[in-house]
Amino acid sequence: MVERPASVVKELLENSLDAGATRLDIDVEQGGVKLIRIRDDGSGVEQDDLPLTIARHATSKIHDLDDLEGVATLGFRGEALASISSVARLTLTSSADETGAGWQVQAEGRDMEAVIVPSAHPRGTTLEVRDLFFNTPARRKFLRTEKTEFSHLEEVVKRLAMSNFHVGFSLRHNQRVVHALKPASTEQEQDRRVASLCGPSFMENAVRVDTQVGELRLWGWLGLPTFSRAQADLQYFFVNGRSVKDKVVNHAVRQAYRDVMYHGRHAAFVLYLELDPKGVDVNVHPTKHEVRFRESRQVHDFLFRTLHRAIAERMLMCI
Ligand code: ADP
Ligand code: MG
Repeated sequence: MVERPASVVKELLENSLDAGATRLDIDVEQGGVKLIRIRDDGSGVEQDDLPLTIARHATSKIHDLDDLEGVATLGFRGEALASISSVARLTLTSSADETGAGWQVQAEGRDMEAVIVPSAHPRGTTLEVRDLFFNTPARRKFLRTEKTEFSHLEEVVKRLAMSNFHVGFSLRHNQRVVHALKPASTEQEQDRRVASLCGPSFMENAVRVDTQVGELRLWGWLGLPTFSRAQADLQYFFVNGRSVKDKVVNHAVRQAYRDVMYHGRHAAFVLYLELDPKGVDVNVHPTKHEVRFRESRQVHDFLFRTLHRAIAERMLMCI
């Protein structure tokens, strides 16, 4: 469902990441309503496949039952580009080889007749989405201010940048560079990326955790209790690389901080839980970041113990 510029950006970036992109350039105008342009260096789309990509149910992700079962990919609705092009002016330019020659297809509104023309493009894909909701004024009315729409969009980019360290990102709004992130492979580079996305003071007041018990691994940055916040606005939690807001997770984290956090204050963290994909259902509600753990009690206890211990150790060091 295309709700706002941020949801468009999320779908497009996930496609680029699925296509193996290592570099993503995002250009946005007027909060994304006027223009969203995303350029990737992924696999590109073959000429013959172009019309398919913007047709309904075009997904290329489910090949067999295993894909359905262990859903390790980021969703499989296969309608994103079709939905976007039904409410905006969409241009896809792509090349699947190194010749520099590519193809372009345009779609606009519900008129889905795709015309394909040659267009120069390095290997990879550029998606351009202009004039979101130009043909659906009722939905356009629900959009908020440019600033608000951009902040939602930026949040999507931040989450993906925090879960794809190997990928370089740039984000520009109205020609102004908002984020420029080089690929981060070493711990130091990852620190730098998180600092630039969450603020240097978070990094100065956070400890790295990395604990593995059986098939469960938790790693990331844990804000010290002294770096508490008035809002729960610096809480990032990823399950198998996917940004998640989950009751079980929230409860475990809150419990872990309970004794060291003033009432009404919120912890800050960037944490990654990794487990066997079969142990978690990520498609409960794809757009709402919900998941369902098969062994939710076990996950909860692992999170609580790991975080509680990390916080306690850190507090002892401060005495
Ligand atoms: P889904 O991602 O669920 O398969 P989409 O509508 O988002 O459905 O995309 C349709 C198809 O278009 C994808 O399955 C993929 O084959 C192709 N595609 C879309 N974006 C890209 C991209 N940036 N690079 C390569 N292929 C892409
Ligand atoms: Mg997609």
